Amino acid sequence: MDKLYDIIIVGQGIAGMTAAIYARRAGADVLILEKGAVGGQAALTYEIGNYPGFKSISGIELVTTIQQQVLSLGVEIRYAKVLEIQDGYIKTVKTKNTTYHCKAVILCLGATPRQMGLNKEESLSGRGISYCAVCDGAFYRNKVVAVVGRGNVAADDASYLSHIAKKVYVINRRDEMKAQEILLDRVYDGVKQGKIEILNNCEPKEILGQDKVEGLVVQNTKTNEMKNIELDGIFVAAGRFADTEWLNGLVKIDDRGYIIVDDHKRTNVEGIYAAGDCTNTVLRQLVTASADGAIAATSAYEYAKTVVIE
Ligand SMILES: Cc1cc2nc3c(=O)[nH]c(=O)nc-3n(C[C@H](O)[C@H](O)[C@H](O)COP(=O)(O)OP(=O)(O)OC[C@H]3O[C@@H](n4cnc5c(N)ncnc54)[C@H](O)[C@@H]3O)c2cc1C
Repeated sequence: MDKLYDIIIVGQGIAGMTAAIYARRAGADVLILEKGAVGGQAALTYEIGNYPGFKSISGIELVTTIQQQVLSLGVEIRYAKVLEIQDGYIKTVKTKNTTYHCKAVILCLGATPRQMGLNKEESLSGRGISYCAVCDGAFYRNKVVAVVGRGNVAADDASYLSHIAKKVYVINRRDEMKAQEILLDRVYDGVKQGKIEILNNCEPKEILGQDKVEGLVVQNTKTNEMKNIELDGIFVAAGRFADTEWLNGLVKIDDRGYIIVDDHKRTNVEGIYAAGDCTNTVLRQLVTASADGAIAATSAYEYAKTVVIE
């Protein structure tokens, strides 16, 4: 067998990097495997205004600073997609070209916001397109925004943004929104106050603007009528998904694909932990992902110490 790591962390987002810092400082031999670039979702965030200690910091600056801390501790980072994990007293973690071995695994796979699927959506992400109202809402004070979606997140985002923005359009594909009553009541309050306008049976068709969002073309799904709405921002609330299918039943996931963990970030499989947005948590934010990573690392390290190879 090649090198035996104490802990392999899958994912170099904020959860994975915090886990690496905690595990390495405890004395563990740690490897991070990352399929993309440093920082996960945070790296895509134009400006972060709710991370303690920084009034405003760009996502990429935050994650590269954290990565420097990770590297300075002697954590090994390799760039490859993890394709398979096999459980056992010693765990096997496979990428396309390499098989790694470790005592404990921490899954920090993150979550991916569902997109609208429109042209320019990616290039204008962070320039008027946001997937997180709590994170980016403050940048739209007294501006006009749209929330695209119809469920709990859309309702919550719309009422949240109505206290910040001048006006909030809700772009809903169907006849009516489908959210919890308490959330809908807040939306209808906003409608009564003239702060929210719900456009039912409307589908986003085209984003207007080159360097930043200037509007959205929507189509009425019943009449096919097109309408241009002038906007400063579009909040996509079409849900997120955790890409956990490839785990192939290795650990228990909930009905939305999130990995089920307990307070110690243990999955149902001994020696396999999970942290951050990929878990069945109640809040998917930088600080919570980071805190999860710290807990998972502490648990994984304690477990790894019990795995003794003669
Ligand atoms: C546009 C946007 C703006 C946001 N703004 C804010 C904000 O202002 N404030 C805030 O608190 N939160 C914000 N959030 C939420 C915040 O970014 C996330 O909650 C946080 O980054 C989650 O961290 P994570 O480490 O759990 O997951 P991620 O950041 O998603 O990282 C997961 C990593 O795992 C890697 N990975 C996944 N599968 C594999 C695999 N099989 N093999 C190898 N690597 C893999 C991914 O490539 C990724 O790098 C924002 C989110 C978005 C999308």
